[in-house]
Amino acid sequence: MSDERHEPGEAPVEIPQSASAADVAADVSRNPQEIALQQLAEAAQRLDLEDSVHLRLQQPKRIVQVSIPTMMDDGTWRVFTGIRSQHNTARGPSKGGIRYHPDVHLGEVIALSMWMTWKCAVVDIPFGGAKGGIVCDAKAMSEGELERMTRDFALEMSEVFGPYSDIPAPDVYTNERIMAWIMDAYSLKSSGPTPAVVTGKPLALGGSFGRDQATGRGCSFTIVEALRVLGIPLKGARIAIQGAGNAGSAVARILDRLGAKLIAISDSQGGTFSDHGLPASAVLQHKSETDTVIGFPGGRQISNEELLQLDCEVLVPAALENVINAGNADDIKARIVAEAANGPTTPTAQLTLNQNNVFVIPDILANAGGVTVSYFEWVQNLQFDRWSEQVIDDRLRDKMVQAFHEVYQRSQSEKIDMRAAAMDIAVGRVAEATRLRVKCF
Ligand code: NAD
Repeated sequence: MSDERHEPGEAPVEIPQSASAADVAADVSRNPQEIALQQLAEAAQRLDLEDSVHLRLQQPKRIVQVSIPTMMDDGTWRVFTGIRSQHNTARGPSKGGIRYHPDVHLGEVIALSMWMTWKCAVVDIPFGGAKGGIVCDAKAMSEGELERMTRDFALEMSEVFGPYSDIPAPDVYTNERIMAWIMDAYSLKSSGPTPAVVTGKPLALGGSFGRDQATGRGCSFTIVEALRVLGIPLKGARIAIQGAGNAGSAVARILDRLGAKLIAISDSQGGTFSDHGLPASAVLQHKSETDTVIGFPGGRQISNEELLQLDCEVLVPAALENVINAGNADDIKARIVAEAANGPTTPTAQLTLNQNNVFVIPDILANAGGVTVSYFEWVQNLQFDRWSEQVIDDRLRDKMVQAFHEVYQRSQSEKIDMRAAAMDIAVGRVAEATRLRVKCF
């Protein structure tokens, strides 16, 4: 890799140069809770955090597990398991999504709730972190089954959820319809309609303008700032995006409109590539018509692995975890990796990217636009107000640009990478609130 690249911080010493298949397998299958605790321990060491606070931040404040007996369409009963982890509420009510997936398990939910705490703190919104899930195969369930399960889950959790205590949101395989059922079930049990108990609702129930695009918009703002500080012109900057879903497609559209060159985009079936640039709207239209970006006229088919290794200015992993790992980190040629997805880079891969001077915008910063607009939704609900799309966009830009520069300044002054800087700012803010509240966290 060229020495002309920006220096994001001190390169750690031990870098695996060529990982065996077993090393790669071990790298990508690490327990998320163990990774979250390691990241916290590293931040605690850099911040010289007192043991009492470190110990408190290692543990979720509260974990609730409920059984949800649900009548299926054929008249049989099933009992689903629902989990909610509230990691920390020192800075405000806990906030985080609910996923419906067969692989939901406690360790992952706890780790995700911890990452939500840091994400809310890094963009300085007054929330702590939470996450929840139901162990179920949502794709195999009818709308009626999903509704009955969701309503019972919301009732079971009604002492946990609340506009001033814990505010859920959509996540994997949950959507605005499911959020509407949660709002309705909670409201029926409380003294009246309570839209602020959940975000990501339909507009008709107090949802916010701009929520659907928020993660991609927020990520795009951080990419624009990263290009600026690295002195790379936005116009013509080559962008490769893994994952043409909610987050990735918004990044593609926005950066294309701003004059960057989208050279590749993919979905679960593979990617499409063109040196000359791909028109984002037309590729995404092709995807909505054919269910894949593959076969777009003028694009050459590539694999997801090839996409990750393209020569480009900005790589945006916007699909899965651990896609940049010990097996391919040394082959990443992008100058900037903007983590729209949660956890796309393993800790081992981060070390290699540092050594190769790849500038990583970490997930807790790059994809914080979603929770930021969720916060705007909550504020509007509490005020019985509705802000225009322009107001949402301006406030989102302000939040993301400010957070980016705070993290960047810290990384420069402390000579650490952007992920470490984001963690230090976040953990520092949560620790300060925790100390001030003593017993209330
Ligand atoms: P999504 O389901 O809308 O899109 C995911 C995309 O990834 C789809 O295009 C899918 O085809 C693609 N994909 C699936 N498997 C793939 C594979 N093996 N290789 C390449 N692409 C594959 O999801 P989303 O909401 O855009 O979320 C994407 C990531 O962003 C997740 O990590 C999510 O946690 C994170 N994120 C999303 C939000 C949000 O508001 N949507 C907020 C924060 C973080």
